Amino acid sequence: MLIRSAVFPLLLASGLVLCNSAPAAKAPAASPSATASPAAASPALKTTKPVVDQTAQTIILCYHRFVDKIRYPGTEIRPADFEAQMKALKDHGITVIGMQDFLAWKRGEKSIPPRCAIISFDDGWKSQYEVAWPIMKKYGYPLTLFIYTEGVRGGLLGGGEAITWEQLADMRDNGVDIEAHTATHQDLREGHSIMEFAAGAKKTKKKLTGPEYEQWLQNEVVAPKQLLEQRLAIKVNCFAVPFGNYNDHVKEVARNAGYEAMFTVYGQALTYNSPLDSLGRYAIEANKPKVFESAMKTIGTSTGGASAVAEVGSTNLSTQPADGDTVRTALPLIKANVSSLGQIDPGSLQMRVSGLGVVPATYDGKTGTVTYQVTQKLREKSCTVILSAKSEGKKIEAHWTFGIDETAATTSTSPSPTRKK
Ligand SMILES: [Zn+2]
Repeated sequence: MLIRSAVFPLLLASGLVLCNSAPAAKAPAASPSATASPAAASPALKTTKPVVDQTAQTIILCYHRFVDKIRYPGTEIRPADFEAQMKALKDHGITVIGMQDFLAWKRGEKSIPPRCAIISFDDGWKSQYEVAWPIMKKYGYPLTLFIYTEGVRGGLLGGGEAITWEQLADMRDNGVDIEAHTATHQDLREGHSIMEFAAGAKKTKKKLTGPEYEQWLQNEVVAPKQLLEQRLAIKVNCFAVPFGNYNDHVKEVARNAGYEAMFTVYGQALTYNSPLDSLGRYAIEANKPKVFESAMKTIGTSTGGASAVAEVGSTNLSTQPADGDTVRTALPLIKANVSSLGQIDPGSLQMRVSGLGVVPATYDGKTGTVTYQVTQKLREKSCTVILSAKSEGKKIEAHWTFGIDETAATTSTSPSPTRKK
């Protein structure tokens, strides 16, 4: 294609590659286009599923090279800027989780925090190992790599800036999730121009179709998974599509190869129901700081929403009645001590009682005690109290429930403050 042939050298020269591109120093990645599809589908095992938070949301961030002097803003970022972003995630209450935790959540096997981010590095650059990984370790963040196998040092496209197999092994040993990103990083769709690479030979540009294309596609989609799995003795179940260009056929091939999830570079908030064969990632670039900001915004901020509430165990509040107790009166005295919660804004204290709603509780600042004497008989056999307050700008909440049995024998007297949940 004319456009493609015109664009290709330009990409190499300028580093304007859209997403997962192979920067020039390492070796020309191939044509800008998208590919891959999520694989998928291990047979769904039906077992009793734990309760997972289906309202949680995740963003996936994608980085390439970490350099102080930006020459290719499309694929590079300054280490200091990267670190500031990692800190910002933490400051905004976004939890960085591993890819496998995310997939387990998608399968309904485990829960994840309400607002999460996954950090991924693409293509396999040594600055990922030398510069960015130490920053990830400093924050204790899990990391996912998407590697195109011919781009590893020693491969057909693995130049001096490429990551080495030894570095990959070290990262594997330290918990980094290593996943596939094709063999030569090209547009995987049939009929698109690709570069053919051969050891010691000049690369040639081609358009593959029919059986020749299918053979090549297998080599791009299936072989890298096998190579990574065998060379590193790992399980590979994720496939990142170069440039995000792919189609249904590529998806099918990837799925048949055993990939459970496929990734593009169309950033979006991922939900419980996001299809596993088109999980969009945000490509973070040096010249587009707003992309990071908007990625964080797509999953909300810590200044609003239910997720901003910190739950406090009621036992810390020496509540009366205690959680789980049964009292013999429908007119109980409800008390809690909030002095363990730090600086409370007294005006923000609020007590809610099931069947009554917000009640006019009184607060004694000297003892830190919040008290409410129920004046109207509680009708239900159990009563839930929610106490909320603001402490240092954050909303905190405690919930507890006690039973009411006016006919109970004298054995269960009211409050037994020592009882624990
Ligand atoms: Zn890439």
